[in-house]
Amino acid sequence: MTIQRAHITITGIVQGVGFRPFIHRLAHQIGLTGWVNNTAQGVVIEVEGDDHLIEHFLRRIQTDLPPHAHIADMAVMIIPPIGDRHFVIEKSADGGAKTAYIPPDLAICPDCLREMTDPHNRRYRYPFINCTHCGPRYSIMTDLPYDRPNTTMRHFIMCDDCRGEYDDPDDRRFHAQPIACPACGPHIAFWDADGQVLATHDTALSACADALRAGNIIAMKGLGGFHLLADATNPQAIATLRIRKHRPHKPFAVMFPALADICRWCVLDDVAHDLLSSPQAPIVLLQKRRYAHSSTTLYAELLAPDNPTLGVMLPYTPLHHLLLATCGFPLIATSGNRADEPICIDEHEALTRLAGIADFFLVHNRPIHRPIDDSVVRVMAGRMMIVRRARGYAPLPINCRDEARAGEGGLAVGAHLKNAVAIRRGDDVFISQHIGDLSTTGAYHHFEQTIADLSAMLDISPRQIACDAHPDYASTTYAYRTGLPIRKIQHHYAHALACMAENGVALPALAVVWDGTGYGDDGTIWGGEFLRMTASGYERVGHLQPFPLIGGDSAVIEPRKTALGWLYSLLGDAIFDDEQFAPVRQFTPAQRRILRQMVQKGINCPMTSSMGRLFDAVASLMDVCQVMTHEAQAAVMLENLALSDAPSPHTPVAQVFEPDGRHDYHIHIQDNTHIIHTHHLFASLMADINANLPKTVISRKFHATLIHILVDMAHRIGERHVLLTGGCFMNKPLLEGAVDYLRQAGFIPHWHSQVPTGDGGICFGQAVALSMRRLG
Ligand SMILES: [Zn+2]
Ligand SMILES: [Zn+2]
Repeated sequence: MTIQRAHITITGIVQGVGFRPFIHRLAHQIGLTGWVNNTAQGVVIEVEGDDHLIEHFLRRIQTDLPPHAHIADMAVMIIPPIGDRHFVIEKSADGGAKTAYIPPDLAICPDCLREMTDPHNRRYRYPFINCTHCGPRYSIMTDLPYDRPNTTMRHFIMCDDCRGEYDDPDDRRFHAQPIACPACGPHIAFWDADGQVLATHDTALSACADALRAGNIIAMKGLGGFHLLADATNPQAIATLRIRKHRPHKPFAVMFPALADICRWCVLDDVAHDLLSSPQAPIVLLQKRRYAHSSTTLYAELLAPDNPTLGVMLPYTPLHHLLLATCGFPLIATSGNRADEPICIDEHEALTRLAGIADFFLVHNRPIHRPIDDSVVRVMAGRMMIVRRARGYAPLPINCRDEARAGEGGLAVGAHLKNAVAIRRGDDVFISQHIGDLSTTGAYHHFEQTIADLSAMLDISPRQIACDAHPDYASTTYAYRTGLPIRKIQHHYAHALACMAENGVALPALAVVWDGTGYGDDGTIWGGEFLRMTASGYERVGHLQPFPLIGGDSAVIEPRKTALGWLYSLLGDAIFDDEQFAPVRQFTPAQRRILRQMVQKGINCPMTSSMGRLFDAVASLMDVCQVMTHEAQAAVMLENLALSDAPSPHTPVAQVFEPDGRHDYHIHIQDNTHIIHTHHLFASLMADINANLPKTVISRKFHATLIHILVDMAHRIGERHVLLTGGCFMNKPLLEGAVDYLRQAGFIPHWHSQVPTGDGGICFGQAVALSMRRLG
C-alpha cells in the first residue's frame, strides 16, 4: 500500500449536470481526501490516498457518471502527497482558456415533477422548480464557468432554505445554479395586451387557462423565448392565429398534456416515444392518424394542412406542465415571432413585437439571455433525424476525431436559409442553435450576435472562415467583411462533407445531394447532384438535366412558373399555348406572353438542376400545388399523397411502392457526366395524369422513380458508400425507400441524424471542409 496523490483534469459535459457532488460523494465513499473544482476548462480534481483506492476511484468516475454527464477527455497526473484531511468542493476558479462544454437546457426531471405536485413540498406548484439534473442552462448563461453569478439568476438572492440545499453536497440541489423557490425566486404574471397585470402566481395560471379556453391567443414566456399559444382543438382559434401570424398553411406544433393524448392523434413508435420523453424534449414530427369522422383527424388537418405529419411535444418546463394540466387540452405552441424574425425573449419587447397577434401575455421575471427555439426531429429509417437543431441539443459539439486538425479555430458561417454557424475547437465542431432565414434585419443581427456569443463562450477568436460560394448570401458578405482568410465551400459539397463526417465515412464515396437551391461551380443553380467524394475534393459525376427557372427566385414560391420552365425545356415554345397542362391554365394569355419572352431572351431565367424544383414542377403539373406560402410546401404535399393511403404506417416504404411501379427515365453520358434526362419521366407522368390515375398513385410512382434513378446511379458510379444528404431527404418515403433499395443492391447508405440534412447542416460541412485543406 502506497499513499499517492493524483491531479485529474476532466473535459466534456461536466458542468451543470451534478458532476462535482458526484465526485464529492464518490471520494467520501471510497475514503479519499482532496478537492474538486470547476474551471473554465472543465473539472479539476485532486485526490489523495491508497493507490488501489485511487485506481478504483478513477474507474468509478467512468462507470457511475451522472445521467447527463459525458467525459470527452480525462488526464491523470501523479503528484507528491500533501496530507489533506478532508475532501472538499472548492470555489470555482476563473481565468485560463475556456475549454469546458456549454450545457444545454434540459426538461424538468421526474424528481422535480414529483415535488411540484406534492402539496406538502415547499415548491408545490412552483413554476421554476429545478435541480442539478434539470432546468435552464444555455438560455440563462452569460459566461463560463457555469456558476450562479454567470447566469441571469444572479439577480435573485437565495433564501436560507435554498442556500442550505445549494451548499449541501448530499442534497440533489447542491450547486444547482438556477435553484429557486416561491420565497426567493422568479414569479409569473398574466398581462393584458397593454402590459397591465391581471393576475399573478397561481391565479395567473387559471386566468391564462380560462383565456385559452375562450379561444384567445396567448404569448407565453418560456425557456428560450416566447411561444404563441392557442387551443389546438378550437378551429376558430387556429384560424385566428393563422390570420394574425400571416401563416395560411405552414404547420403549427402542438404541446399535449400527456403521451396518451398524443397516441390518439398520431402514430407513436418506440424511438419517437423515447425522444418525446427525453430531457431534450424536442418537437417530434409524427405521422397523423387518419380516421373518418374523427375530430382529432380534423384538428390535425387544420394544424398541419396537406402534411403527413403533425409536430408534437410534451411539456418540458414546470410552467408548461402546470399550464397544460390546468387546461387539460392540447395547445398550439408556435414560436413567438413575426414571420422570419428571431424568437422574442423579453416580456416588455414582446408587448410591441407581438402586438396584434397575442390577446394576453403569460410572463415571468427570470431573464432569458439568448433566444433558443424548440428543436424539431423526425424518426427516419428507425432513428432520429434532426430537422431544427436548437434547445436541448445546441451548442453541444459533434466530434470529428478522424479528421485532420487543420480546421482549428475555424468559423463556418453557414447558408442563407435555416442558418446556423459552427466553430471548430480541437476534435469538436460546435454548432450554434438554429438562427433562421438571414433575409430580415432581426435575423441578421441575431446571426452576428450568435457568432460573437459562441466565440466568446468557447474563447476562440476565429483564425479562418468558411462560407458558401453564393456571392449574394448575407453570410458570405459577412465573411468578406471580417478580413480573415476565407475559403468558399460549394453548397452541395458542404452538405456531402457534413454527411460524411457525421457518419465517420472513409472516402471515396458517392454523395447524392438533393435540395432546393445552391450556387454551383458553373454559376448555375445546382440541387440534383451526384458527387464522387475523394480525399482531395469532389467530382460532379451526375446531375439532373438543367431547365430554366423562369423569374429566378420568384419561381421558388410558384411551382406553376417552375413547371413552365421545365415544360419549355422539354417541349419548346408551343407549351405556352397548350392548355392541357395545369400550370399553363394558371396564367392569362397576356401573362404567358411575358413569361415566354423572358425565357426566350433568357431574362431572369437562371438554369437549374435542382431536385427540389423538380418536385415543385411535378406538383404543379399534377395540379397539387401552384403557389406556395411556405418553404417546401409542394414537396411535402407530394409526400403526403404518397403516404396517404398506404396500408399501414408501419409498412416498409419499398413494399408501399412496389405495387404501383414507376415512371420512365433516361440517363445519358455527356463529357463523362451522367445527365438525368426527364423527358421520359414527363411523358409517363402525363400519361398517368391523362388516364386520371389517383394522385396518390402518381406521387408514389414519382417517388419510386427517383429512388430507382438513385440506385441506378450508385451502380454506374460503383462506390460502396452512398451519402444521402440535402433538404429533399427530409422526405420520409424518399429517404427510407433509398435506404432500403440501396441496401438490397449491396450498397451502404448513410444519412443524417445529429446534423440537419437541410441547410441547417451546411455550417458543419463548411467547418469540416476547413480541416480537409491539408489533404487537398
Ligand atoms: Zn430536477
Ligand atoms: Zn428559496
